Amino acid sequence: MSKLNIVLFGPPGAGKGTQSNFLIEKFNLVHLSTGDLLRAELKAETELGLAAKELMDNGELVADNIVIGMIRNMMEAHNEAPGFIFDGFPRTEAQAQALDEMLNAKSEPIVAMLSLEVPEEELVKRLLERGKTSGRVDDQEEATARKRIVVYSRETSPLKDYYKAQGKYKAIDGVGSLADITARLVKAIG
Ligand code: AMP
Repeated sequence: MSKLNIVLFGPPGAGKGTQSNFLIEKFNLVHLSTGDLLRAELKAETELGLAAKELMDNGELVADNIVIGMIRNMMEAHNEAPGFIFDGFPRTEAQAQALDEMLNAKSEPIVAMLSLEVPEEELVKRLLERGKTSGRVDDQEEATARKRIVVYSRETSPLKDYYKAQGKYKAIDGVGSLADITARLVKAIG
């Protein structure tokens, strides 16, 4: 059976992490979040984590080769997975190309890119709310929250065209109850 490899796309605060948790359960997928992987490196105080810290705290992107390497390692470690849900990756065209190369080499391409659409003011509200409990430095200040949205618009949002060209882009309304949004995603996966 072909693998269910999905990119869960959207700006910071769109609900990618939350919705990933529902989808991995429903479809038995492995969740690959580069943000989570980087935060684990940071917590373990590895060289990689310490090198990424300042960029992450400031809402800037970590170098492509670092996140691509982390994804490659995780995919190799979970070769038997029925599929992956990519969350927060890819964030640049170089990352999207590297992901396609890795997956195409195994004839297991991305089947859909689901893009959670949420208005900017709602995103800022959600990020600052999360900041009260997440302990994430990048969720604390409104300026950093807005900076991440700017970086998303500039570097990451153009990937919609990349996946549109492959016929894989699907926009999903990311506003509403968690259950409604999950239902929209499940319907889009088909
Ligand atoms: P996230 O948890 O996805 O919001 O990511 C938190 C931070 O980790 C981002 O603001 C970036 O600094 C870094 N990061 C996560 N994923 C990537 C990625 N694919 N490319 C570059 N930087 C990333």
